[in-house]
This record gives sequence, structure tokens and C-alpha cells, in this order.
Amino acid sequence: MADKKWQEVGYPARLEERLPDDVVRCHLSPRNCRIRPGQHGFCMVRANRDGRLVSLNYGRSVHATEETIETEAVFHYEPGARILSMGNIGCMLNCDYCHNWKTSQARYVEDKDVYYYTPEQVVDIAKRHNISVISWTYNDPVVWHEFVVETAALAKEAGIVNLYKSAFFISEEAIDELIPVIDIFSVSIKSIDPKYYRKITKGWLEPVLDGTAKVYQAGKHVEVSTLMVTDLSDNEKTAHDIGAFVLDRLGPEVPTHYVRFHPDYKMTNTIRTPIDRLEAARRVGLDMGLRHVYLGNVYDTESTNTRCHSCGELQITRYGLNANILAVNEQGKCTKCGADANIKRIPGGVATQSTVAELPAAADLETATFDWYGDVRALHVQIRNDGTETQRIYHRRNRGTGGTPWTVLELQPKESYRFIAAKSSLDERGVAVAVPPTCTSSLHQVFDRAHFPTTEADSGSLNADVTPLPLFEARG
Ligand code: SF4
Repeated sequence: MADKKWQEVGYPARLEERLPDDVVRCHLSPRNCRIRPGQHGFCMVRANRDGRLVSLNYGRSVHATEETIETEAVFHYEPGARILSMGNIGCMLNCDYCHNWKTSQARYVEDKDVYYYTPEQVVDIAKRHNISVISWTYNDPVVWHEFVVETAALAKEAGIVNLYKSAFFISEEAIDELIPVIDIFSVSIKSIDPKYYRKITKGWLEPVLDGTAKVYQAGKHVEVSTLMVTDLSDNEKTAHDIGAFVLDRLGPEVPTHYVRFHPDYKMTNTIRTPIDRLEAARRVGLDMGLRHVYLGNVYDTESTNTRCHSCGELQITRYGLNANILAVNEQGKCTKCGADANIKRIPGGVATQSTVAELPAAADLETATFDWYGDVRALHVQIRNDGTETQRIYHRRNRGTGGTPWTVLELQPKESYRFIAAKSSLDERGVAVAVPPTCTSSLHQVFDRAHFPTTEADSGSLNADVTPLPLFEARG
């Protein structure tokens, strides 16, 4: 039996209703689970301990990971910004195709997969690495509400933007607690068909739509994405119904993403969404009057770029999870015609990372390389400094024309850091990472965006999992 000590300590939960006989009701998600002493709710991470509702995942997380804001289906808020992604354990839904089922379904989570953070540590990581946005993401942030609310408030005080990437099956009371601290909501709406929600997600539709409209009306930056599941929802009707919701209850400027699916979890007996169906969905959205319609998890297509909705100027090019701003000024306006690009910029911009042209000759560095292949075009690189002094590690892209400059990353003694390296151009062959002897590193293949790979090297496949395994450990 795998160790599951992470569940042992409960943290006082918000949105608790106390009922007779030490029963509690949870008001965090629309399920409103009624929980008897010693039992837990549907999400498996909120429980009744001695007649009180507790959170079992407060500060218990997957590894904090530096990514780009495009990873979160956010294309219109400081494009290309580095973000610190924080994911946790559990979910208030159980979608048949979940890409993060190893963390969203708490029964699969073992102690070896769990990292512990305090709110102060999360903010400290973001500040030390000059990251302007914290993203609450992966499995689903709804189910570690207490940790999100407390940490996001601390981050906001430090001038950091908070992004909430969620399926948004959440109660109105919980949304009221998020609105003061969250700046960006990236909402994954699975379908507009109530039957689809009941059958595929085990949740229901109305709270998702109402919640999305509520945060939009509160003036938050909202983007909507829909996973176009092969032969299930990758059709023009889904594209139309999602577009109609955005136009009716949000606004035409709200970016709308139709996202490519890959087989996973209980839905492995199928194929990735055909690209022509995605392109057809995008045309439906544009023809309806949506200003910004994108495809997700696709490469080598115009359908990830941004053009001015007024003059047609190419404003932002994207390749995978990377963005290049061409024609949007610091006020978020088109540099050609002056129209509002519907793009929010972070005042003062975001910090760039320091680079060097060559690796320092005196450093005793070991270099690992990884070449992109097939559908694997992104990696998580995890590095730990086991030494007693601050260490510098280096990483760069290998192109057909040679390597780009090395990006420098400083790690404090005993610090463990994880970041994404994602293919950024057609001619990019792969990435290289150079680490000093006191550091250990591992590479984990990422399959599509907002996927957090957990599998350890040598552990093999847990069951019918099709997510890629770590390829190798650069150092043991
Ligand atoms: S968050 Fe939702 S699923 Fe979890 S205990 Fe509360 S009401 Fe139930």
C-alpha cells in the first residue's frame, strides 16, 4: 500500500455549515456535500474531522513550476509572461478524459508526488525568480480554496498578478472570496450541453456558466477554452454554442480557445482531435462575431496568432507555448491603427532573464540534451541544488542554425526548481541543460498544455496511462 500521509493533517476549511449530529456541509462547490464524521466529500480532499470541515490538501501541492502564460490558455494578458504554476490534489469533477487524473483523482496521489509549501514560500519563489504572475492551475484550484485565497492575497500585496485556471464548478460564495484577489480567470467550459456535463464530467453546467458571467461582470480578465474531444464535442455545434454563450453573457472581445484533445485516463480508445475539425470550429466562432478565436495544443498554424480586429495587422505570433509581441503597445493598443487590442499589459512590463553567450569555462558542468520528437514539444526540467552554496544552472534552445544564448538560473542551497522548456520555432531541434556537480536534475515530457507529468523514472506505467514518462535523469 502506497504512503498517503499527506492526508493526515486537516486545516480549518472555509465555507463550512455545521449540521446536527456533528455532520457538516461543504459550500465550496455546487455539490454541497453533506459529510458525516470521519468521511470526506466527493473531491476526497475535504473531510469531516470531529464535526468540523477540514481541508486535507492545504499547502500540499505538485512541484511549483515556471511556465508561460500561454500554457493556461491566456493569450490576452501580457503575452509571453513567465508564470509560477501551482497545482494541488483532488477535484470536484471527474472528467472521463482528464489530462491530470493522477493528481486530480486523490486516490492515485502518493507521498512521493507531494510537495509542501506555505503561502510565504510561494510568494518568495515568484519574487526571487522575477515572476509576475502566479497561476492556480492543473487539477483544479477550486479544491484548495483556503490556500489559494490566503496565498493570492499575499501575492497581491507583493504586486504579483493572480491567474485562476479552472473548470469553475464552484459556488457563488467561493467566487465572492476569489474576486478580491484574482485578476485573470481562464475558464474551461467543456460543453454547453447539460447532458454532456452530467455524463462526462460528473458535474453540471449552470453553475459554470453563471460563475463565468459573474467574474466577467466583476471586471475580471476572462478567457474561455473548450476541449474539443474527438467524435464527442469536436463539432461545429459545440463551437457555435460556446460562441453564443460568450457573445450573450460575456463579450465579443473575450478570447475563445478551441483546444485539441489527446486520449487519456478513461478515454484512450480514440485519436487526437483532427486539425481540420478544429479549424472549422474556429471559423464558426469568427463568423459569429467573436473577435479573438484561437486553437490550442496545435503548432504550425496561423490560428494561434493575434491579428488586430480592426485593421488586420499581425500583432502577436505564437509557436506552441511561446509568444512574440510585434504590434501591441504598452497600453494594449494596436501600433498600426491605435485600436484597442483587448490585451492587458502589466505596467512596467515583465522582467527578462539574464543570459550568457558561452558556458563559463571554469565551471564543472554536466550537459544534458533532449530532442523534440512526435507530439512531445515541451519538457518540465526539475533541478535540485543539494549543495550549501548558491549555484547557477544554464539552459538553452538548440536550433538548426546552432544554439541560442544560455539562460541563467540561480538556485539557493537546497532549492528545488522546475520550469518548462517548450519548442519555440519550426527549426528548433531541442533543448540543453547544464548543471554543476552539486545539482541533480530530471526531465519530464509534457503532453499538451496545462499537463503536469508526475511519473517517476523507472516506475513504469501505472495502468493504461498514455502520458509520456520521464526520458532520463541527467544525474542520479
Ligand atoms: S469541494 Fe465540492 S466535492 Fe469537495 S467536499 Fe466541498 S462540495 Fe464536496
